[in-house]
Amino acid sequence: MDKINIKGLICFGNHGVLKEEQVLGQKFVINATLYLDTQAAAMSGNLEKTVNYAEICQRVKSFVEGNTFELIETLAEKIARDLLRTYTILKKVDIEVQKPWAPIGLPLDTVSVEITRERHTVYIALGSNMGDKKAYLDSAVAKLNALEDFKVITVSDYIETEPYGGVKQDNFLNGVLEGETLMSPMELLDALHEIESLEGRTRTIHWGPRTLDLDIIFYDDMAIDSKDLTVPHKEMHLRDFVLTPMNQIAPWFRHPVLNKTVENLLDELK
Ligand code: ATP
Ligand code: CA
Ligand code: CA
Repeated sequence: MDKINIKGLICFGNHGVLKEEQVLGQKFVINATLYLDTQAAAMSGNLEKTVNYAEICQRVKSFVEGNTFELIETLAEKIARDLLRTYTILKKVDIEVQKPWAPIGLPLDTVSVEITRERHTVYIALGSNMGDKKAYLDSAVAKLNALEDFKVITVSDYIETEPYGGVKQDNFLNGVLEGETLMSPMELLDALHEIESLEGRTRTIHWGPRTLDLDIIFYDDMAIDSKDLTVPHKEMHLRDFVLTPMNQIAPWFRHPVLNKTVENLLDELK
């Protein structure tokens, strides 16, 4: 991917754990790599199709000088998110925050934190089998889209399905949506839980009736196994009510562990 590099942007800021650092301030040096497609701008000569690096430098400098954080980790994270939120043309950013005057009582050239942050493509399964099911799913889509760091790209049709897992209960309404997010996988899971509880979800019986269930099906081509999160969702390939709506919006999407497309997985299940 094309890159725009900003090197050695000097700022004077008040970041640090020590009180003196926050009061007196010190020098910070920012390096940034911005990833985007510059070809459209190059061919047309149109600044609208790229980013204005002068403006970005001003923005970063104001951000560094106008806020106070204890950690340069936090500063780097906030700069990355601010740029990705503001310039939707950016696909990814590398941000390095250097602190050459770090008061460690030893001579050193500099100390720095460097991070990479980018937009992620995610697929989320939606389900409801209580009350006004369509209203719960629609409300979940709207609430996700209203989050600052999540954009809904496509929503499948909703389909009515029989309950899964042996508990006797009402039929479900299910769908899948594609989204773009700046959130990490755990941050996204927390956001989904928050929306579920806003919609009155309570956890009583496992696989029992619920107003709203939101599961992460895919997060880019990442494979995650942890106590609270398994991605791709561990049973998605066995569930018609996930694969059918998923196949409607992204049949070509490849399961990163099973190495099969959604279309293949649905064919195998049938
Ligand atoms: P299933 O996960 O089999 O569809 P469920 O959706 O009914 O069952 P919940 O009670 O909603 O299960 O969730 C139980 C826990 O599953 C959540 O608290 C979460 O920590 C964990 N979990 C693991 N992987 C995922 C994932 N990919 N998406 C959502 N939750 C997940
Ligand atoms: Ca589920
Ligand atoms: Ca769930």
